[in-house]
Amino acid sequence: DYEVIRIRQREDGRTTSNEIESLRILSRQKYLKKRELKKLQELRDEIVDEEYLFEGVSLTEAEILGLRYKKRLCDVANKKRRLSVEEEEDASEYRIPEVYDREGAVDQQKRFSAALQRYRDDPEGGVSPQKAWEDHQSRKATLNYGSRNKKQTSDQEDYPFVFEDQIEFIKASVMAGEEFDDNVLNGKSHDNAAAKSAASDKIQEERKTLPIYQYRDAFLQAVNDYQVLIIVGETGSGKTTQIPQYLHEAGYTKRGKVGCTQPRRVAAMSVAARVAKEMGVKLGHEVGYSIRFEDCTSENTVLKYMTDGMLLKEFTDEPDLASYSILMLDEAHERTLPTDLLFGLVKDIARLRPDLKVLISSATLDAEKFSDFFDSAPVFKIPGRRFPVEIHYTLAPEADYMDAAIVTALQIHTREPPGDILMFLTGQDEIETAEEILKQRTRGLGNKIAELIICPIYAILPTELQAKIFEPTPHGARKVVLATNIAETSLTIDGIKYVIDPGFCKIKSYSAKTGMESLQVTPISKASANQRAGRSGRTGPGKCFRLYTAFNFQHDLDDNSVPEIQRTNLLNVVLTMKNLGINNLINFEFMDQPPSEAILKALELLFALSALDKKGHLTKVGKRMAEFPLDPMLSKMVVASDKYKCSEEIITIAAMLSVGNAIFYCPKDKRVLAENAKISFHEGNVGDHIALLRVYNSWKETNFSTQWCYENYIQVRSMKRARDIRDQLEGLLEKVGIELTSNPNDLDAIKKCITSGFFPHTARLQKNGAYTTLKHPQTVYVHPSSGLAEVLPRWVVYHELVLTSKEYMRQVTEVKPEWLVEIAPHYYQMKD
Ligand code: ADP
Ligand code: MG
Repeated sequence: DYEVIRIRQREDGRTTSNEIESLRILSRQKYLKKRELKKLQELRDEIVDEEYLFEGVSLTEAEILGLRYKKRLCDVANKKRRLSVEEEEDASEYRIPEVYDREGAVDQQKRFSAALQRYRDDPEGGVSPQKAWEDHQSRKATLNYGSRNKKQTSDQEDYPFVFEDQIEFIKASVMAGEEFDDNVLNGKSHDNAAAKSAASDKIQEERKTLPIYQYRDAFLQAVNDYQVLIIVGETGSGKTTQIPQYLHEAGYTKRGKVGCTQPRRVAAMSVAARVAKEMGVKLGHEVGYSIRFEDCTSENTVLKYMTDGMLLKEFTDEPDLASYSILMLDEAHERTLPTDLLFGLVKDIARLRPDLKVLISSATLDAEKFSDFFDSAPVFKIPGRRFPVEIHYTLAPEADYMDAAIVTALQIHTREPPGDILMFLTGQDEIETAEEILKQRTRGLGNKIAELIICPIYAILPTELQAKIFEPTPHGARKVVLATNIAETSLTIDGIKYVIDPGFCKIKSYSAKTGMESLQVTPISKASANQRAGRSGRTGPGKCFRLYTAFNFQHDLDDNSVPEIQRTNLLNVVLTMKNLGINNLINFEFMDQPPSEAILKALELLFALSALDKKGHLTKVGKRMAEFPLDPMLSKMVVASDKYKCSEEIITIAAMLSVGNAIFYCPKDKRVLAENAKISFHEGNVGDHIALLRVYNSWKETNFSTQWCYENYIQVRSMKRARDIRDQLEGLLEKVGIELTSNPNDLDAIKKCITSGFFPHTARLQKNGAYTTLKHPQTVYVHPSSGLAEVLPRWVVYHELVLTSKEYMRQVTEVKPEWLVEIAPHYYQMKD
C-alpha cells in the first residue's frame, strides 16, 4: 500500500524525541521481529523528513535499501497515478492473472470493479486500481491460505508449531511447465530399482535420465558437422556435466583437451567433482579444474573445467590454445566480462584453427545473438523439462528482505509439504547472517518442528561443505540452501521445491564519468527472477515466493541485466588485451561494444600506473603486473614492492585483501570481546592494511594455529585461503624476478608501496567527517568496520568503495599528500 509506505511530512511538521528514540533503539537490533518491524513502519510514517531518517538514525543497511526500494516504488506508483484515469482504465497490467480461482470470482470481480470506480471518483484520496487489484488478490489469497490453514490443523501432528511472525503472500500466476518426454520421465522412475545395484551403475542410470541424454547422438553429429555450435537448454538439462563426457566418449580428447569455462569458481569446482565421480576417476586426474589461485589438474587431465578468467590467462602462454581440441564457453548468457572477451578471442583463433571446435552454451533462449556473432552458427536446442511453478508475491514491499526471507523460510518449513528450499541472497556476509539467525530461531524447538538442515553456498566454501548441498535430504527433514546468484543457473540442486527470491543481487557498477566503481546491492532483472523461480520446478511442481509485489515485478525490474562489459571498470580487460598483444582495442570484435569512455579511462589509468608507455604499449612494469591474477591496482602494489624492499609484507597484504571481507567475525553474544581483539591489531591507528598484515603475521607466529584464530575472532577458513594465495604470489614474484625482501618496521615504506597501486583511490577529509575523492570529487565515508572509522585521518587511500546506505570506503590507510606527488607525478600535482 503506497500510502502507508510513503515517507511524508507530518502536518505539524515535527516528530517527538520519544518517537525518534524508540526508532533508534529498534533499529539497533539488526534483525527485527515482524511485530517490531510493523511498529517501525508505523513510526516511520510519522518521521518528519527523509533526510533525518537516512542520516540521523542508524538504520540497518538492509532497511535503508528497503526504504530506497520502497521510495522508488512510491515514485512509480505516484507517477502512475498522475496518468490520466482513462489510460488506467484498460491498463492491461492490472488484468486478473491467467490462473484464476473461478469460485466466487464473480463476486470478487464486482468488488474489484467497485474499488476501481471509487478510485475513478476520487483518484487522490481513493484506492488505485493497483491497490484494488492487490486487495482483491489478497482477499483471494486469504481465502486460499484460510483453507490451507484448516487443512493444516488436521496435519497438526506433523507440524504443530507456528512462528509468531508471518508474511502474507498472494499467488499471482503460474509459470507453465515445459514439454515432457515420457521416456525421460520413465527413466527417472527406474531410479529406485537402480539404487539397489552398484553405486556406479546408479550414477550411470542417473545420467540417462537427464534431458540431454536422448539427444546425445544428434548432438555429437552436430559437433562433427559444424565448427561452432550454440547450445541452449534449461538449467539442469545436463549441458555442463554431460557434454564434455560425451565428447570424451566420442574420442575428441585423443586430439587435445576439452576445456569448459564457468563464470564462477564454485561451479567449476563442484561440476568437475561431479564429473570425476560420474567417470569414476580421481578429481585432478582425467577430470580437473583450474580456478584463480588453485590448479587441480595434471598431465592426464582431458576434461578441464575452469573459470573464464583462467582460460583468458592461458592465452598468454598459449595464444592458439593448441592443447585444446574443444572449447566450451558455458553459461554464456551470464555475459561476464571474461566470457565476453573470450567470445572475440575464440572466434579469432577458430579461423586460424579449423580443427578446433567451439561450443557456446546458454541457459536462456535468446541464442540468436550468439548465433549472429559467430557468423550464423547453428543453434542446438535441448527441449526443457520443467514442472509448473506457482509465483507468490508479498502484499506490500518488505523493508528488510533478509528478515522477510528468514520468516518466509520458517513459514514454508512449518506450513508446506516436504521439499527443499532455495533462498537467494546477495553475498557471503548475508548468507552467514541468515545461517546464524535460522539456527538461532530453530534452536531449542526440539521436535516441535521437523529438522531444518541449513546449507550455505558461496565462493570460498570448502569442498567438503559444498558436497553437503547435493546430499539427498533425510526423510522427515527439510533442507534450506542459502545461495548467491550461483544457484540461478550455474548449479542445479535436486529436490528444490520452494524458492525464496528477495529480488536482489550484488553487482559491480562503474561510472566511466568519474572512474569510480563500487559494489552495489541492486534489484535483479525479470529474466533472473524467472530463472530463479524455475529452480523450484525441476523435480515436481514448485512454488516461488517473491519478497516484492507483483506491481514491483512489472514496473521496477528491468527485462534483462546489462552485460558486465558495459557496466564495469575495464582496467583488467585492457591490461589483459595489451598483454595478449591486442593493441587496437577499438577494432576488437566485441559482442556488445564497451563504452569508449570506459576504454579511455582504463588506458589513462594504466598509463598512470606506469603499465603502459605514452604510445600505449605495455611497459616492463605492465608485463610484470599482467602476470599476477589480481586486479591491476593490487598487481601494481605488488610490483612496486620491489622498489620499497617490502615484498614479504606486501604479498601478505595482497593475499589478505584478496580473501575479501571475511577475516574478522563477531558473534552476537561476544561482541565486546571480538571488538577488543580486533582493536588490538589496529593499535597505533596503523590503518586497515597494516592491521591485516599484523593478523597474518601473528597467526604465522603461532604456527598457523586454529586455536589462535578462535581466541582472536578470526575466521580460520579465510586465513588458510590467504595463506594459499600468498604462497602463489610468492611463486609469481620469483617468476617475474622480484626478490623476497622484508621491511617490517618501516611502515611508511609499506604505506608508500600501497599508495603506488592505490593512488587513484585517494580521499581527503572534509569538515563534516565525510571525505571527498581527489580526482573526481565525490563524497565518501570511512566504512564503520574500519580501524580508522573513529580516527578520520586527513588523507587516506582506500581499497574499494561499497555502496550501501552511503558510499563507503573499505580497507583504509592514512597517507601523506606529498607521497602522492612523489609517487604519481603525472597524476597529482601540488597546487601552488
Ligand atoms: P546444466 O549445465 O544443463 O544446467 P548440469 O550438467 O549442471 O546441467 O546438471 C545436470 C545434473 O547433474 C543435475 O541434476 C545436477 O543436480 C547434477 N549435478 C551437478 N553437479 C553436481 C554435484 N556436484 N553433485 C551432485 N549432482 C550434481
Ligand atoms: Mg550448467
